[in-house]
Amino acid sequence: MKALEELGISLDRYGAKYRVVSSVHLKELKREIEALYGSDGIDGEVFEQYLSPFRYQSPWNGCRAHSIIVIAVPQGLSIVSFDSGKRRLKTVIPPTYIYRKIREDCFDALNRSFGPTVKIEKALLPLKLLAARSGLGSYGRNCLCYVPLMGSFARIEAFHIACRIERDDWGEKTLLKECEGCTRCADNCPTGCIDGETQTPGGLKPALNTGRCITIHNETAGDFPEYIKERDHNAIVGCIKCQTVCPLNRPYLKKKIDLERFARRETKLILQNRHDSSKTLSAKLRRHDMDEYGDVLSRNLKMLL
Ligand code: SF4
Ligand code: SF4
Repeated sequence: MKALEELGISLDRYGAKYRVVSSVHLKELKREIEALYGSDGIDGEVFEQYLSPFRYQSPWNGCRAHSIIVIAVPQGLSIVSFDSGKRRLKTVIPPTYIYRKIREDCFDALNRSFGPTVKIEKALLPLKLLAARSGLGSYGRNCLCYVPLMGSFARIEAFHIACRIERDDWGEKTLLKECEGCTRCADNCPTGCIDGETQTPGGLKPALNTGRCITIHNETAGDFPEYIKERDHNAIVGCIKCQTVCPLNRPYLKKKIDLERFARRETKLILQNRHDSSKTLSAKLRRHDMDEYGDVLSRNLKMLL
């Protein structure tokens, strides 16, 4: 199909890759995710917050068969710094948190390739599982999706496309062979939530106690559980510790971007949870998709400082 060839060429410019999944697998995808509910891998609260917004159907009424295009885009570590007056703190926004520009680029590439008459919608689907099922990537012990030539530093996006595409890349999900005999991510996880014993990591019976993962707690408002210590915090949002030690990510750690500096006044406003009072600061946060975490930035920054 010519449109797919053109899509491949367009995405090449960003070092991105894609796969195609038929909409007939949406029910299966739903069953797999729901099988997590109540398993050891994911607790009810996490399920509600992260998984319930997914929609496993066509966004267009009466559209019986369509395809989903899954795209992986490489993304480096973004460094941000804050001036507290006493010190300048450098910290990271982990890969995958900055996404709006990537999503726009994917939309552009799809529109150019398929033409203006083909309807395209952002898909609200479990992206890691979709990427693993489409063959774009494999699960690691840390339950992250690893994409060849990107490691876990990849932003996954997915789009419904109202067009019958013969190609269907759906298959079994795979687990990284490199995880056999390696426990680096488990050893470096501050809360010990990665299972370092199991030799068949990841997948839908993840070797991860999701409820103990720092990411879950620092993305949402509220007090941290007592097992997360101040010294465990390592990113303005999310956590990067199981990724930076992974040998498969070594080549991509060099791709650090000096993203943004927050001056003393801006840092103070964030600490006081008053970032909305400055248009410039709000625009800065929005530029890096950090406006979505406005409620938790103050608390997270206090922990880091
Ligand atoms: S650190 Fe080792 S065990 Fe963990 S994901 Fe990377 S290769 Fe697998
Ligand atoms: S993101 Fe942090 S807390 Fe979660 S599994 Fe990785 S190292 Fe552990």
